[in-house]
Amino acid sequence: MTLFIDRLEHTYFESFKEREDAHFSPVMASRLLDPVVVSSNKLLAEELGIDPDNLDSPEMLELMSGNFMTANIKPIALVYSGHQFGVWAGQLGDGRAMTLGELPVAKSALGEDELGETEVPHSELWDIQLKGAGPTPYSRFADGRAVLRSSIREYLCSEAMHGLGIATTRALSLVDSKTQVYREEVESGATVCRVARSHIRFGSFEHFHYRNQPESVRALADYVVQRHFPQWTEDSDRFIKLFKNTVFKTAKMIAQWQSVGFNHGVMNTDNMSILGDTLDFGPFGFLDNYNPDFICNHSDTNGRYAFKNQPSVGLWNLNALATSLTSLLSSDELIDVLKQYEPEFLNQFRGIMASKLGLEQYQAEDELLSNELLDLMQTNNVDYTILFRSLCDFTATNHTVRDQFIDREGFDQWAVKYLARLEQQRLSDAQRRDNMRAINPKYVLRNYMAQGAIEKAQTGDYSEVNLLLKVLQSPREEHPEAQHYAGLPPDWAETISVSCSS
Ligand code: AMP
Ligand code: MG
Repeated sequence: MTLFIDRLEHTYFESFKEREDAHFSPVMASRLLDPVVVSSNKLLAEELGIDPDNLDSPEMLELMSGNFMTANIKPIALVYSGHQFGVWAGQLGDGRAMTLGELPVAKSALGEDELGETEVPHSELWDIQLKGAGPTPYSRFADGRAVLRSSIREYLCSEAMHGLGIATTRALSLVDSKTQVYREEVESGATVCRVARSHIRFGSFEHFHYRNQPESVRALADYVVQRHFPQWTEDSDRFIKLFKNTVFKTAKMIAQWQSVGFNHGVMNTDNMSILGDTLDFGPFGFLDNYNPDFICNHSDTNGRYAFKNQPSVGLWNLNALATSLTSLLSSDELIDVLKQYEPEFLNQFRGIMASKLGLEQYQAEDELLSNELLDLMQTNNVDYTILFRSLCDFTATNHTVRDQFIDREGFDQWAVKYLARLEQQRLSDAQRRDNMRAINPKYVLRNYMAQGAIEKAQTGDYSEVNLLLKVLQSPREEHPEAQHYAGLPPDWAETISVSCSS
């Protein structure tokens, strides 16, 4: 029986093996004791062309526990550096993750990409990574392990983001074990099989730039172009296209984060993907009440990565990336592209917010309408997800959503303007409701939901992890079995604290 290991390629390894020390380190996994499968992601398996039944095979469990009894795995840890909380942190690297190989996945979608280029169908390589499999040369003083708690959070949130239609790394499988890991208390060691189109970060480029290795910056940029944008390989302007792609995709990703109330929590440049995928799920959080000052990361005392700061941090990080590309591109070229970030972010964000309000076409006045609603939600402590979901049912005769506001008159005044705007469209209430339900999720991964699933899993009951996986993979569907997750968070949710060490 074969899993997918025979199909793995090793293009990163092959491309950089001559300069192995500079780009990556070959590593060995440290095995987990008595591993058990917590959850397998059958949906992703199908997308990757893996037989979903094989995910629960002994072979997969061996793989997930770090026992690689096969020739076609070359575990490597990638080196990168980065700016952490605005400060240059120097060398970091995969301290608790190893890439096992790259899985070719047929990419059939033909169409235009974000930059208006025609996409060429090709087989895309997806990194298969094992997170939590023991120390690497980049672990510094840490143990290279991941605890069950943080692994469940990453596993569920990456799939939740995908379910919301946001570019992200994915997670194929989650395994727990009897290996003891020491945090504030003893916890069990777990692994997540992270699957991503790329694990190359802004910080990967910064690493070589600040080491004064422009040839390595170029080699890395060429690798990314060849692997992800083969249609640009021969173009003399391929690096500007690559940078532009990163700027546009990052703008779109962050606009989408803002639209679903997602707070990443640690937007360091080493956690930013060169493809604009959501990467590294640590102390993330989704908004409950609409509060732009929300800081999900307990360690972020100054609120650098507060919810409302994410769009500008995105630009700060892209600036850091631009600096690391100055050996490839002129300052004028880089600045010219950076200038497109803000308009692109606004363009994306306004479009999404208009859709969330059931507006078919964004008009300039809609910004005021949307901002007035957000202001009201903020002052009235209204739940972000619940409000937009219930707004789907708003009509000239159904204003029940007003009950969510303490200031009902304030809402009524807004509702008059909203109705007038809706009347400019030809959509029926039912059509608009369906459009709005197709964008406004009913479920997001609130901290208390993850926490409940974690506490159950710690007793050996994985049912809640698996229920949440199912619900969050299609968060706009009704899921009658999960209604209790569609309401307000319980009072105890406020006592949960997540920090970088999670
Ligand atoms: P993060 O805050 O998760 O993005 O991690 C920052 C850096 O610390 C990365 O280089 C990680 O690989 C490393 N790191 C985090 N936790 C561990 C751990 N338990 N063992 C080894 N390295 C770690
Ligand atoms: Mg990280």
